[in-house]
Amino acid sequence: MEKRDELYAGKAKSIFATDDPDLLIMHFRDDTSAFDGEKLEQLERKGLVNNKFNAFIMSRLRDAGVPVHFERLLGDQESLVKRLDMIPVECVVRNFAAGGLVRRLGVEEGRELSPATYELFLKNDALHDPLINESVSITLGYATEQQLEEAKALSFKVNEVLTAIFRDAGILLVDYKLEFGVHNGQLMLGDEFSPDGARLWDAETREKLDKDRFRKGLGGVIEAYEEVGRRIGVTFD
Ligand code: ATP
Repeated sequence: MEKRDELYAGKAKSIFATDDPDLLIMHFRDDTSAFDGEKLEQLERKGLVNNKFNAFIMSRLRDAGVPVHFERLLGDQESLVKRLDMIPVECVVRNFAAGGLVRRLGVEEGRELSPATYELFLKNDALHDPLINESVSITLGYATEQQLEEAKALSFKVNEVLTAIFRDAGILLVDYKLEFGVHNGQLMLGDEFSPDGARLWDAETREKLDKDRFRKGLGGVIEAYEEVGRRIGVTFD
């Protein structure tokens, strides 16, 4: 597998072309950002930890029948993925109230949400990723009705699989964001699943073990990511 030009550098990852037009290399950098890129820092080992965390979760999802872009680990900070035409919509599932839901609706943080909620946000930093819905997405051409239906079904399938994995490790899967894309006409899960894009709390103490530690300046960010990983069975060395 030959690594070619950098095609895109996002806030946390860089995407490289390969000699195979269907495949890309996803490089997880140590960069950490929050508040639409306003707070930026380098956290040692973050690239490695998120790369291996993501590889573990994507493999478990693939085993459960979820189509994923992840092919295989290439190294500490790199994974091989299928090239997707990304849908510019973030799909968010919430099992407990936190973050934006609390701010927008005044719901008490930590309240259990049953059934889980499902929201769509436009991926646009300049507009601060505004809340949208299926009608707006279809009319403005972000996605088709069928893609949105499939993305929703897959988002809830992911919830079933991951809620069980984290529950068995004494962790609450509070909420998470997924991004989907299309490869050869098939919708599949892209981007990453890591504590950067999910909220994960200790089930006993409700201690935050995710990127909220960075947002709130609580420290021990990567240590918390590794603790979650260790509990669910990720190996980092
Ligand atoms: P931004 O693009 O606003 O910087 P970001 O901070 O989420 O968003 P990163 O996560 O750093 O970006 O970079 C990853 C980028 O690669 C994202 O824009 C994501 O949508 C895109 N991406 C993820 N998986 C794939 C894939 N399989 N094929 C093509 N693009 C992908």
